[in-house]
Amino acid sequence: MSEKLMDAIIKPVAGVGVALAKVPVPVAGPGEVLIKVHKTAICGSDVHIFDWNDWAAQHVKPGMTIGHEYVGEIAALGEGVTGLHIGQRVSGEGHITCGHCRNCRNGDIQWCKDTFGVGVDRNGAFAEYLCIPASNVIPIDENLDEDVVAFFDAFGNATHTALMWSLVGEDVLITGAGPIGIMAAGICKFAGARRVVITDLNEYRLDLARKMGVDAAVNTGKEDLTEVMKQLNIVEGFDVGLEMSGNGHAFNQMLSVMRTGGKISLLGLGNKPIPVDMNYIIGKGLTLQGIYGRKMDTWHQMSYMVQGGLDMSPIITHRYHYTDFQKGFDAMKSGNSGKVILDWTTKKEG
Ligand SMILES: [Zn+2]
Ligand SMILES: [Zn+2]
Repeated sequence: MSEKLMDAIIKPVAGVGVALAKVPVPVAGPGEVLIKVHKTAICGSDVHIFDWNDWAAQHVKPGMTIGHEYVGEIAALGEGVTGLHIGQRVSGEGHITCGHCRNCRNGDIQWCKDTFGVGVDRNGAFAEYLCIPASNVIPIDENLDEDVVAFFDAFGNATHTALMWSLVGEDVLITGAGPIGIMAAGICKFAGARRVVITDLNEYRLDLARKMGVDAAVNTGKEDLTEVMKQLNIVEGFDVGLEMSGNGHAFNQMLSVMRTGGKISLLGLGNKPIPVDMNYIIGKGLTLQGIYGRKMDTWHQMSYMVQGGLDMSPIITHRYHYTDFQKGFDAMKSGNSGKVILDWTTKKEG
C-alpha cells in the first residue's frame, strides 16, 4: 500500500532557506484531528527558521514542515474525538501543552514548561494537511474572513499583550511597528484608548500603522517623541506601554516617557540581553508584565472584536499561492510588508 503524498513547505537542511516538498499526508491518531489547510500566514519566527538563526537551529529538525498560522476545515477525526465535525471551519492553538503541570492546571497554558510548538518542534501548517490534538482545535465562525483568521495566532499575541491592562481613556505607547505592534494599535483604539502612539524606524510600517488608525506613528530616528506627546496633549506620560521591538533603545525610551504608576507589557524578544535603566522602573513605580503566547480565551476575544467591527485587513499587504512561497518570504525579509498570506485552496499543476 502506498502512502498518500501532499505538498508541504519544509526545512530541508540545517542552513538557510525552505523548500516545497512531497511529504506523507498525516493520519489522525486517537484524540487527533486532521485539518485541510485553506490559508496560512508567514510569521516572523518562520523567517527566523528560514534564516536558520540560533533559536531555529535549537528547535527545528531538518525535514520538518514549518508554519503555525492557518485556517482550514476538518478533514478527519481520530478515534474518540467528540464535539467537532468534518467540514467544520477551524484554526488551532499552536502551543501543544502537557495538560498536567502547575500552570496548565491553573489555566495558564501559555506558561506550560513542556510546550511543543506546531511548525517549530513538530510538523506545521504550511502543507495541504495538518494534524493536531483535538484540544488544540479552535472552531471559527463561517462569517469571518479567512485571510484574517489565517493570522489569528499572531493577532492573538497582539490581543494578549494589549488587553493585559485596562485601556479605556488611556494613552498608549507601542514601541515597534511590526505586524503584531500594528495589530495591537488597532486593538487599543477599538478597546477605547484615548491616544495610541507607535514608534519605529521603518516608514513603510509606520504608514501601515496609520492605516490602522493610530493617533501618531513616529519615526524616532527623525522625530522627537516628547514633541509629539505635547501635540497630542499627553501631559504626564503614557499610561500603558506595549514593547514589541525587542530593542533596548526603544524600551529605554518607553521607560523615560511612562507616567508614574504606568503599566507595560513586553512581547518583543531581543536577540541579545537588553540593558535597562532600573531607576525609571523603581522611581515611577512601573508594573512590567512579560507576555508569551496567548490565553485560550484570546481566540474568542479576537472573533468577537472582528465581529464587533475591528478591521484587521489593512495589515495584509501580500497574497500568494503557496507555490510562490519564496516571494512571500522575500516580502517578509524586505521589511516592507505587513502580513503575507499563502493560499492552499487551489492546486497548481506543472
Ligand atoms: Zn506566529
Ligand atoms: Zn503544562
